[in-house]
Amino acid sequence: MTALPLSTDAAALLGVYARVGPHFVAGEGCELIAEDGTRYLDFAAGIAVNALGYNHPIIRDAITRALDTGLVHVSNLYRSEPGERLAAELVAHAFPTGGQAFFCNSGAEANEGAFKFARKWGGPQKTEIVAFSGSFHGRLFASLAATDRPDYRRPFEPLLAGVQIVALGDTEAAARAITDRTAVVIIEPVQGEGGVRPVPNDFLRFLRELCDERGAALIFDEIQCGLGRTGTLFAAEESGVTPDMLTLAKPLAGGLPMGAILVTDRIAAALAPGDHATTFGGGPLVATVALDVVRAIAEPEFLAAVRDKGTWFGERLRGLAQRCPRVREIRGRGLMWGLELVPGQTAATFVAAARERQLLVLSAGLNVIRIVPPLIIAREELERGAAILEAVLS
Ligand SMILES: *Cc1c(COP(=O)(O)O)cnc(C)c1O
Repeated sequence: MTALPLSTDAAALLGVYARVGPHFVAGEGCELIAEDGTRYLDFAAGIAVNALGYNHPIIRDAITRALDTGLVHVSNLYRSEPGERLAAELVAHAFPTGGQAFFCNSGAEANEGAFKFARKWGGPQKTEIVAFSGSFHGRLFASLAATDRPDYRRPFEPLLAGVQIVALGDTEAAARAITDRTAVVIIEPVQGEGGVRPVPNDFLRFLRELCDERGAALIFDEIQCGLGRTGTLFAAEESGVTPDMLTLAKPLAGGLPMGAILVTDRIAAALAPGDHATTFGGGPLVATVALDVVRAIAEPEFLAAVRDKGTWFGERLRGLAQRCPRVREIRGRGLMWGLELVPGQTAATFVAAARERQLLVLSAGLNVIRIVPPLIIAREELERGAAILEAVLS
């Protein structure tokens, strides 16, 4: 690798991120390496993106194989094998009775597309969207309208009209909000940005029934919680509920930008050439990598290992919470955990303190510390990180 001189400031980058810490110049396994050689244990994984960690042979091999064909991109005007195979693989896992996939380039784009698909499917009388308190669905105009974060929304209002945010878990409010004018009900089966909140299976089943009754499309946004994060390939699997659409992104292509909208056959039947498109979506490079990532994660042994590590880690965190009065509650499943702090404590303080001790964690809102490590993480590494976190919180 040729070493370029590192930049000394970020003045030319638009100031929409509050970037902190060192420049990271390399990664290996579950560690990021800073310019001075310091290694950071990564419980953030690029915000739940790097499920196979850094420099994983599966991703290296897939990228190399794809590059050997000379095709980074071919237009969606033509056929290309990797995307077709990836679609078949994802749909087979998501919808046993059949479906189709549309590929895009990010999570927000996946949700925007899913809203459009539901509108086309529902016809001109069904125009409304129902989302839930604590939700995060992206930063574009419709996905932001379905996102319950006043600070993110306020400067950009008016957003898309006809969106209602209903209290999560409130069946009566949901029954009032979901009417025959509702095109879409969108929910994260485990909320990420909203504070790591697993949604009870009963509530997902209730929404399924309500959507069927009122003729609305149910979207599971599994952009953060999907693809093995919670110990099953899809987070809502154990609810037994099949959504009409499932959106994916973050870990899908091993760190390359990619999103997907999986739709059941009855949604697919409403869509025709010209209804939606994107230039880059599902190109051969990203699709080749995604196929190998999905296959690796979908292995029963891989998912069982996530569940085992998650069960152990959850107990470790509950022990920590008992010893640290600053921690009010532990929530999560698999390798997606939130530590809610007692009122008056802010997560950012402890995220910064952990970074000082070479542990990267995330916040989720004001008072939740979020942990979403690479799924390949070893138990020893989980223990090492937990010990740092406990020291910081004590
Ligand atoms: C990150 C995220 C999104 C948005 O994805 P981007 O790729 O940042 O646009 C949407 N929904 C959920 C649940 C997310 O976690």
